[in-house]
Amino acid sequence: MAPPSHCHVNTNGATAVPVVEPEADTAQHARKMLDPEEFRRLGHQVVDFIADYYAKMETYPVHPDVTPGFLRRQLPAEAPSRPEPDDAFAAAMKDVHDLILPGLTHWQSPRHFAHFPASSSTVGALGEALAAGLNVVPFTWAASPAATELEMVVVDWLGKALHLPETLLFAGGGGGTLLGTSCEAILCTLVAARDRKLAEIGEHRTGDLVVYCSDQTHFAFRKAARVAGIRTANIREVATRRDDDAFALSPAVLEAAMRADADAGRVPLFLCATVGTTQTTAVDPLRHLADGVEAVDSFSVNAHKWLLANNDCCAVWVKRPSLLTAALGTDHDEYILKGGAAAEGHDVVDYKDWSVTLTRRFRALKLWLVLRCHGVEGLRDVVRAHIRMAAVFESMVKADARFEVVAKRRFALVCFRLRSPERFGGEKTANELNRTLLDRVNATGSGPYMSSAKVGGVYMLRCAIGSTLTEERHVRDAWKVVQDRAASLLRKMEIINSVLA
Ligand SMILES: *Cc1c(COP(=O)(O)O)cnc(C)c1O
Repeated sequence: MAPPSHCHVNTNGATAVPVVEPEADTAQHARKMLDPEEFRRLGHQVVDFIADYYAKMETYPVHPDVTPGFLRRQLPAEAPSRPEPDDAFAAAMKDVHDLILPGLTHWQSPRHFAHFPASSSTVGALGEALAAGLNVVPFTWAASPAATELEMVVVDWLGKALHLPETLLFAGGGGGTLLGTSCEAILCTLVAARDRKLAEIGEHRTGDLVVYCSDQTHFAFRKAARVAGIRTANIREVATRRDDDAFALSPAVLEAAMRADADAGRVPLFLCATVGTTQTTAVDPLRHLADGVEAVDSFSVNAHKWLLANNDCCAVWVKRPSLLTAALGTDHDEYILKGGAAAEGHDVVDYKDWSVTLTRRFRALKLWLVLRCHGVEGLRDVVRAHIRMAAVFESMVKADARFEVVAKRRFALVCFRLRSPERFGGEKTANELNRTLLDRVNATGSGPYMSSAKVGGVYMLRCAIGSTLTEERHVRDAWKVVQDRAASLLRKMEIINSVLA
């Protein structure tokens, strides 16, 4: 018989140890690996390093001027067999400063306006440090009771702050968890929905399951659908339009698509709606923003994008946790994993059954610290300040007749483009013109740094405000750079045009 087409070896790291060390050294060895005084000394260095990094953030180019391979060429191809003789940590930190920092995109720069922000705070970073230091693995309640319970508390806190319906909270019979990313959140909820449906209609009908999103939905959903075994042909992307719906999902078009699938014997399974799409922050019509969310089965939000919780922190809530655990739960006989005597007779949450992974991070600590130290109103102030700055940027775009705002601004993202003058080809050359403009805006490392979207065939620049350090002056400066680059670009085209004419 032919072997399977792919064979994978899974190890736990033990393969990295080819020889047995003499026993005598082990105590000394162990102390060295987690030496309290060493930790204090190096920890202070790292804290100082990060503090200096923040202090100097304005002076860093937002994105590096490097070509692929630049770092790999500078580093040895093999790990050192033994630590460097003097101070290996100091030597490595010097490399961080000299080799690595210059090759980073500085997402915390106040002039980083690309993608969406990687929201950071002092408390968020220290929460990460604390979680790393404790390094517990709360896969079951018993494996770290306080970590599990803090997670339950903090997802309810955040859910209440977001005005989620009680039914999604532990307090109301639902519940939530903290995962790494939206991709994971969508995958877990999709798998739960899939298994519930297959239990009803029979496992052999996986091929009939159909999932729905809009053409603006993040690829995270398509990826999750593929991982969950949904046929590519059964992923429906409902087309959106700029004019009527500002790129929001149309309920009428969705309904027609679902009806057509049902009539053909397929099974509508899952709809992924978005509040704030990635390209233009369009809002699918739940009603006003998240009103209407009572009707959903699950809801997720990336606290690492706007809520000061450093990477990674995606909260997801579900109405029926039992559907998640039915799909993702694993049995274990080991009594102590089940919580031993303490858990007997209690219905404890074992978070390993809510997601893909077994080992998981103590993310709750970070989010809890952020909520305690900033308060819900503090987070709202941050969001409001960013939205105000986005409104300032938008009004500057609107005040310059050479530009247009392309998509309705809902939050702190402004999608805009340079109008292409008729004599340069008008709409036909608009995309190319704006692509060149973005290149020129981003050409100076000193910033700003923006990204782009292409929606309905229209290429646009995206200015996403949300870096913790961004102030209104950075936003005004960014606009001046855009205007300046646009002026020189138009001037150059004028010259080319007159030569050709
Ligand atoms: C950022 C984003 C995602 C992907 O998030 P990850 O956490 O990186 O998986 C998905 N959907 C929307 C709307 C996003 O903005």
